[in-house]
Amino acid sequence: MAGTSTEVAKETLAYCTSCKMDLNSIIVAMKGDKIAKVQCFTCKKEHVYRAPKGVTEPKAKATRAPRKKKSEDGTTPENSIEAEWEKLMNAHKDAPMKSYSMKGQFTLGDKVKHTNFGDGIVGRLIYPNKIEVIFQKDMKILIHGGVPDSK
Ligand SMILES: [Zn+2]
Repeated sequence: MAGTSTEVAKETLAYCTSCKMDLNSIIVAMKGDKIAKVQCFTCKKEHVYRAPKGVTEPKAKATRAPRKKKSEDGTTPENSIEAEWEKLMNAHKDAPMKSYSMKGQFTLGDKVKHTNFGDGIVGRLIYPNKIEVIFQKDMKILIHGGVPDSK
């Protein structure tokens, strides 16, 4: 004996089309070695055998690719800058926002409002007259202190 229980009058788990769930059923007809018809224990109806839904069928449609990476412009990932910017803006949320001007004097942690780049924060001072400002999308080196950019 093969030891299988798929034969007429045996119990099997099948999807009942009437009850709309996997239920114990009794096999009423076989087609070759496949179950053709079953009778649902619950509703007592005979119906065409359907494999239980909870069981993976070989023809299961498991082909889905939800992975879709959206890159803004194909350049280097800016996420780290944005995360850094958020962190810094948060850390200095009480600091006053200063409008950027080449004649202005900025120091570490100052919040800078730039007409082109938006709101940023001074992340680094570059001697003698430059500041590195972290904006949401980018990092910029700006001149300050009213000192002309000389060598
Ligand atoms: Zn049923």
